[in-house]
Parts: sequence; C-alpha cells; structure tokens
Amino acid sequence: MPDREGNVTLDACIMDHQQRCGAVSFLQNIENHDTIGMLALDKYGNLSGACTTSGLAYKYFGRVGDSPIIGAGLFVDNEVGAACATGVGEAVIRIAGSAIVVEMMRNGKSPAEACKAAVERIIAKHPSVDNMQVGFLALNTKGEIGAYSIFEGFSYAWSNKDGQQMVKSSFNRKRG
Ligand code: ASP
Repeated sequence: MPDREGNVTLDACIMDHQQRCGAVSFLQNIENHDTIGMLALDKYGNLSGACTTSGLAYKYFGRVGDSPIIGAGLFVDNEVGAACATGVGEAVIRIAGSAIVVEMMRNGKSPAEACKAAVERIIAKHPSVDNMQVGFLALNTKGEIGAYSIFEGFSYAWSNKDGQQMVKSSFNRKRG
C-alpha cells in the first residue's frame, strides 16, 4: 500500500537459526507488495524467519514500523520457536511483540497460547483498539503453529511435505 503521498516504501528483516539477522527500511523505487511474515522449520530442526512489508497504508512518508525491527516484527530462537507480526507496528513495538511471543513459548505456552497472550497484552495497554488490527503467527521447534489477532480477518498458510492449507486465525473480537 502507498503512503499518504502515493509512494511505496518497503521494510524487511530476516533472522536465522544462529540468530544472525539483518534488516532494511525505507527502500524506495521497488515493486509494491503487501506484508508477509514467514517462519520456517527445516528437516534439521532449524528455524528461521522473514518479515517484509510496504508498511501501514497511507503512513507518513518515511515512517518505519515494526516489520524491520528484530524482536518486534520478527524473532527467532532456535531452542524455542519463531514468531512474526502484522498490523499496527507501533502497538507491536510497544510490547516487543515477536520476542514476547517466543519468550512465552519458552515458558511453556503453545504457539497459539503465546500469540493470544501477546494480543491480550496489547489490548490491555491501549484504551481502545477499535481501529487497530494486530496479528501474531508463531511456530515452535516441534512444528506446532499458532496465530491470533485482535480482529477477525487474519489468516495464514502452512505448507509441509503433506500439503498446504490456508487457515483463519482465532481472534479476540469481530468488527462493528
Ligand atoms: N506491521 C506493518 C507496519 O506497521 C504493517 C502491516 O503489517 O501491514 O509497518
């Protein structure tokens, strides 16, 4: 989506199983595209992830959200799991969203429970989330997947050797 002046500017980051990571932000003059968070578990049991976005629709020119920030838009810990986020980046940054989801999995939550708890933390920290969608997606070392969003409408796809499927995530509330 373009910013309010009609420019498309992109942010992205990647992180691997050795916690090597990198990010770019405010890239200009490239193909437009939507937010994609990707988490992968390979046959050796190694986790990695990527997050790439054109940012919030009609953002201020030059705004950079959570997507290129390690720990906010994406986090990977090979001993635990990986998580990524989409939605209003400012809210994700405020709770170090993806890092928190991974920490919650380290402390025993399933990916689905961890995503739900992170969304509930965001809801608790804002007087109103009426115009604010946030969704988290998580994957653990066992290959279990979970997702949760504030509002209905966040979905993800999984793919493995047995096939692939689109899944609607659980959510806290419906719009309206
Ligand atoms: N999280 C992105 C940002 O705030 C936007 C999105 O996920 O659509 O830049």
